[in-house]
Amino acid sequence: LFVEAPLAAGSTLTLDGASANYLGNVLRLAAGAQVKLFDDVSGEWLAEIAEAGKKRMTLTVVEQLRPREPVPDLWLVFAPIKRGAIDWLVEKATELGVARLMPTITHRTIVDRVNLERLRANSIEAAEQCERTALPVLDAPEKLAALLRAWPEDRILFFADESGGVPLPEAAAAGAPRAAILIGPEGGFTDDERAAIRALPQARGVALGPRILRAETAAVAAVAVWMATAGDWS
Ligand code: SAH
Repeated sequence: LFVEAPLAAGSTLTLDGASANYLGNVLRLAAGAQVKLFDDVSGEWLAEIAEAGKKRMTLTVVEQLRPREPVPDLWLVFAPIKRGAIDWLVEKATELGVARLMPTITHRTIVDRVNLERLRANSIEAAEQCERTALPVLDAPEKLAALLRAWPEDRILFFADESGGVPLPEAAAAGAPRAAILIGPEGGFTDDERAAIRALPQARGVALGPRILRAETAAVAAVAVWMATAGDWS
C-alpha cells in the first residue's frame, strides 16, 4: 500500500479514507495483521495493524523490507489520448517499470485537458499491484516544441514513427542507458513535427512492426522492447 508519510521503524501512522477502507473492509484485516507499505522515498516496510476501525486504521511500522529500488531510466513521452486508453497506458507503463511519464501536447492531440490526479491514482494503484517501491514521476502536460527545445543532451529519444524507422529492437540494442520513447496521438504526427523531432541529434526514428498500432499499444510495445533489450529484466 502506498502512503505519503516518510516511513521509519517504530513510527505509527493513521490511515483513513480509501486506504482504511481497503485494509478494513476489502481485505478485512484486523489488529495484528501485517501489511507492506511504501512511501516512494525510503522503500518498502512491514507494518502491523495496531487498531482496526471501520473508518480509521492505526499501524506501527516494524522494519524495512526493501530499499527504494532504482527503476530503469526510461521516460515515456506520450500525446494524451482519450480517457480509458490513457488510463490503461499509465497503468501498463507503471507495471513495466517506466521512471517518468511525460504527457506532451502535439498538433493532433484531441485531449484538451489531462486529469493528473486520476492518472496519479492509476499509477499508484498499478505500483501497489506490481510491487514497485518507487512511483513513476508524472509531469504536467508540455507542448512538444518546448519539450524538444529543452531536451537533455545525454538522453536518446526513440521516436515511434508510424511512417517508418529503424526497428526498435535494433535501435535499442545499440545500448541506451538513459532513454525516452515518444508516442504520438491517435491522429499521428504531422510532417512538420516529424521534421522537428528528427532534427534533434538525440532522436532516433523507430518502427514497431509493419502495422499501425493504437497509441496505447505502441507505448506498451515500445516500453516492453526497450526494457527487454536496453533495460533490465533480470
Ligand atoms: N493514425 C495514424 C497513426 C497514429 S498511431 C495513421 O493511421 O497513420 C499513434 C502513434 O502510435 C503514432 O504516432 C506512433 O507514435 C505510434 N505507432 C503506431 N504504429 C506504429 C508503428 N508501426 N511503428 C512506430 N510507431 C507506431
